[in-house]
Amino acid sequence: MDTKDSKEEPEKYDLKGETEEKSKYFECENCNLKVKYDYFGLEPPFLTKYKLKEESFVMKDPFTSVKKGEILILGANCIKCKKCVCKDPNCSFYFNGTYCVVCAKSCISSFPLNVQEKLNKIVI
Ligand SMILES: [Zn+2]
Ligand SMILES: [Zn+2]
Repeated sequence: MDTKDSKEEPEKYDLKGETEEKSKYFECENCNLKVKYDYFGLEPPFLTKYKLKEESFVMKDPFTSVKKGEILILGANCIKCKKCVCKDPNCSFYFNGTYCVVCAKSCISSFPLNVQEKLNKIVI
């Protein structure tokens, strides 16, 4: 007589992996600002109105409802040196992509004049 108890329990409650959602932090390598972010990329699932122009660190805007599709862009990677920089004007500069201020300054001559003027106002 085979008494082997071969009842296979379906793993219904195997949610361990999902509950251990680690908070991800965005850290600006220029000013050391550290904030929790919800998504990194081009198309945040909670953003419905538009797409981002570049891969960015975004946070669901805590002050508006998610339905409205408002987000807070925290920062992005410098397209030259890949450093994480926040959207503070003293940390990053946007011209066809995010540059950290150091890279923006280093290739200032490749920007149009009006952009160079803006850049010159930023003091590192
Ligand atoms: Zn910063
Ligand atoms: Zn850079």
